[in-house]
Amino acid sequence: MSTIYDRGAPGRRAVALPALQNSEEELLLELPPALRRRNPPRLPEVSQPELVRHYTELSRMNYGVDTGFYPLGSCTMKYNPKLHEDLARLPGFSGLHPLLPPEECQGALAVLWELGELLQGITGMPGVTLQPAAGAHGELTGMLLLKRWLEDRGETGRTKVLLPDSAHGTNPASAAMVGFTVVSLPSDRRGMVDLEALKRALGPDVAGIMLTVPNTLGIFEEDILEITELVHGAGGLCYFDGANFNAYLGRARPGDMGADIFHINLHKTFSTPHGGGGPGAGPVTVSEALVPYLPVPGIVRRGDRFELDWDRPKSVGRVHPYHGNFLVAVRALAYILTLGDEGMREVSAGAVLAANYLKALLQDVYRVPYDRLVKHEFVLSGAGLGEGIRTLDVVKRLMDYGFHPPTIYFPLIVPEALMIEPTETEPKEVLDAFAEALRAIAREAREDPQLLKEAPHGTPVRRLDEARAVREPRLRIQFEKS
Ligand SMILES: *Cc1c(COP(=O)(O)O)cnc(C)c1O
Repeated sequence: MSTIYDRGAPGRRAVALPALQNSEEELLLELPPALRRRNPPRLPEVSQPELVRHYTELSRMNYGVDTGFYPLGSCTMKYNPKLHEDLARLPGFSGLHPLLPPEECQGALAVLWELGELLQGITGMPGVTLQPAAGAHGELTGMLLLKRWLEDRGETGRTKVLLPDSAHGTNPASAAMVGFTVVSLPSDRRGMVDLEALKRALGPDVAGIMLTVPNTLGIFEEDILEITELVHGAGGLCYFDGANFNAYLGRARPGDMGADIFHINLHKTFSTPHGGGGPGAGPVTVSEALVPYLPVPGIVRRGDRFELDWDRPKSVGRVHPYHGNFLVAVRALAYILTLGDEGMREVSAGAVLAANYLKALLQDVYRVPYDRLVKHEFVLSGAGLGEGIRTLDVVKRLMDYGFHPPTIYFPLIVPEALMIEPTETEPKEVLDAFAEALRAIAREAREDPQLLKEAPHGTPVRRLDEARAVREPRLRIQFEKS
């Protein structure tokens, strides 16, 4: 593949700049000699069409939700309405200085306050913080709240956090970062928490449980009420990972199921484009018992004014500068207000219907290790498709069919896992075409396994040594010394 440096010719320019007012010499005089470069920078010298073509070609090599289906399990790569981008770019929002005093940013505080109120209502929980910048950051905040709650009650002997073996990897990491010991709970044959194992694990040293609801197999814990009752009965609290909230949005509330702490990925469920590294937002809602420990400052309404509330002596403190990633909150508020109650119910209905439809189209060809009615995603296994064929081969071949691969090798309890989340925003024709591609690949695995082993065939680069790419990233172009 050629780079922009391989194009153009010396002296060629994409734009003609007006001549300098002062001579180059005069300008240089103002720069200390030590800071002046000895040689001119090595910039590409290209004409405007060459420049435009270069960047347009690059943009066409990118794959995103705006170009095609993106069934990355657990990530909710759904289509996000463009209207929200317009709103987030309104100068009154995007141009605000984060240090403005409250009286000069009442509108922004109103957005944050209203979003907080709505999230409390949607989750059925009476406290909220919008500060965390991502789901994992919400988990960390939640674990800090749990720890502070225990300290305040003098229960520092509760050092263990229970985690199902299907948990998202960030869950045990967050618990461990706060100093808890992680205890793994086995899943039963249904792919749910094994109640007997839970009962055995509970005791006076248990701080709480972290549950992904629905779990990473896309299965809703049918015993959820019994689980939260057992944990509460043993003196612990229940953390729900809400990254999969699109599975029951508008239909059920974690607060009603016994959750004490719940994080929401605004960038997954509530419409902020993600996948490029952020920004996101991971607000946390909490039960009554945890409200005193929430981060400062809180945003409160007094009459028709919005103020910052620093008077929270038991608070865990700040977890993010200012109020978190504000423009993500703007998009989320727009999304909730646009959809309303009925629209949010349609989101979860669509997500669940799409996942079960796609699973039905594939389950005679791919193994389904935990075969139940699923929520927003499902997990297949690529094992047993053909001689020496692995899931990695299947998804590399999928790229030749023009699809982004699903999540693979996660959750860890499924060998050769393919974790597929279609989301609620894809039309039936796309799901049909995706299923047809996966079915064709299963046939190829038997008839022409080499085709899979050598895939992808149509991408700018073929199979990379992924481990080496991570360990020895070469991200610079090396020039010969001149
Ligand atoms: C995405 C995800 C997270 C982490 O959220 P980030 O915003 O990526 O930090 C945690 N748990 C589950 C189940 C997820 O899907």
